[in-house]
Amino acid sequence: MGFSPCGWFGRDRTRAAWAEAHPTDSGGRFTTSTANEIAADPKRASNRAKRYSKSKLTVGVVKLALGFVFLLAFLLSGASEKLYGLFHGVTDNYHLDLSGYLLVFSTVYYLLFLPLDFYSDVTLERRYGLSNQTTAGWLARSAKEWGLSTLLVVGVLNLLYAVIRNLPDWWWLVAAIGWFVLLVLISKITPAVIVPLFYKTVPLKDHELADRLLALAGRCGVRVKRVFEIKLSRETNKANAAVVGLGHQRRILIGDTLLTLCSDDEIEAVFAHELGHVALHHPWKLLAGGAASFVLGFYLLYLVLGPSSVALGFQGPADIATVPLLMLWIAGFGFLSKPLQTAYSRRLEKQADLFTLDKVEKPETLASALTKLADRNLADPTPSRIVETLFYTHPPIAKRIAYIVNAAPQQR
Ligand SMILES: [Zn+2]
Repeated sequence: MGFSPCGWFGRDRTRAAWAEAHPTDSGGRFTTSTANEIAADPKRASNRAKRYSKSKLTVGVVKLALGFVFLLAFLLSGASEKLYGLFHGVTDNYHLDLSGYLLVFSTVYYLLFLPLDFYSDVTLERRYGLSNQTTAGWLARSAKEWGLSTLLVVGVLNLLYAVIRNLPDWWWLVAAIGWFVLLVLISKITPAVIVPLFYKTVPLKDHELADRLLALAGRCGVRVKRVFEIKLSRETNKANAAVVGLGHQRRILIGDTLLTLCSDDEIEAVFAHELGHVALHHPWKLLAGGAASFVLGFYLLYLVLGPSSVALGFQGPADIATVPLLMLWIAGFGFLSKPLQTAYSRRLEKQADLFTLDKVEKPETLASALTKLADRNLADPTPSRIVETLFYTHPPIAKRIAYIVNAAPQQR
């Protein structure tokens, strides 16, 4: 769960959330702003942060809209049927046909959106002095992400269609349970398998700080064996921290960029926020909330997928040529449930912030850490209500500072 307003694996997932930076470009500003300034004048954000956030948001919305258009066009133009026919002509095996179809579909989708991704991840990040990543480095990472997501899509959809074909009336329930189990598994392997694919992590080298953080974990009642530093600086100067994984596999990661940006007191406050997520059982609460929404979501999908595929002239919900239709429905439900998802996430983030105030010696350092992070990451402290509702997994920075400043004196 992320700490910065953009979030860890959050709004833009790993890539965009952790692009890189030119320290020389923005280094001087960090020390000047204080939490009280933001509290006193939430609109003090530089136009730069506003412009950056607006550009990132615009690209995100354009990509979303183009995604819908592409799926619809692929489905209705007959392209989907042709692609399926290509594989069906070679083999009669349903799952081989499906896998071949998905491999080509995923590649076409990836290549089509590559320029837009490049613009968002590289061009914009460089324009705002946030990126050090080479073009080759970005391409390698992007290809790796494509490989991983394709593997996942091929595996998951083969399972889903097998269930749809074998349990025509109950597949939605089995799919919801299966999806929940898959998410738990992915969460469990994230620290040891997924994170190392993209970032190097090492035990925190500053032993004094590590001891201090472990003592803090003890006071919070959270079992932490080691504190890990994650090397973000090779790609980005954006600062972040997160707790990843579940149960014994859980790890708290602190970005090297955050370690150089913040004082030890501030790092302690950030760490306490992450401990708060664990102590308050947030990863499990998110999964439980997810479980309820998966049952509802897959049931709705069951209600609409069959009739809509027949209405469009396909053979039924398991017709391979209707893959884009399945994706359209899933993306549509996902988008409609966004406000609920982000509202719940913002609520948990606020709880973790308030937890922090109780646990650290100097609660005001949370506000100063957040201010530094927002400055460094060019976060918009006062997004519009609609943008907050749809995209913000964390309360906007001005709101966080306001409730921290209000609550902190009462805790002393
Ligand atoms: Zn958080």
